[in-house]
Amino acid sequence: MKNENGFILTGTELAREKSFHSVWKLDREPLMCEASVPGIFAAGDVRFSALTGISSAVAEGAMAIRFTRKYLQEI
Ligand SMILES: Cc1cc2nc3c(=O)[nH]c(=O)nc-3n(C[C@H](O)[C@H](O)[C@H](O)COP(=O)(O)OP(=O)(O)OC[C@H]3O[C@@H](n4cnc5c(N)ncnc54)[C@H](O)[C@@H]3O)c2cc1C
Repeated sequence: MKNENGFILTGTELAREKSFHSVWKLDREPLMCEASVPGIFAAGDVRFSALTGISSAVAEGAMAIRFTRKYLQEI
């Protein structure tokens, strides 16, 4: 799910969206960087509320990998 400016909503920002419950069908909240499709993560400039910059994009990428592993362990 994207916002009106085309940025991908993830994690808590996604959960705050009015239409969240119509797209998210799991019992848990989305993980950090997790998009509206469970197990799909977004990092860097494409993500809503990301701090722009190379170091932030790299850090978010590392975080997204961590949460991808958590997701894979739980399915
Ligand atoms: C002119 C300029 C100068 C900047 N200078 C600095 C700086 O000095 N220091 C700093 O920290 N930050 C700087 N930034 C910001 C920094 O470049 C970005 O914040 C950072 O690159 C974001 O990384 P990203 O991986 O999220 O996105 P990107 O680096 O934009 O990577 C996205 C990649 O996805 C590819 N892509 C896009 N669409 C698709 C598709 N449909 N399929 C497959 N691939 C696709 C693109 O080709 C690109 O390679 C600058 C930005 C600009 C525009």
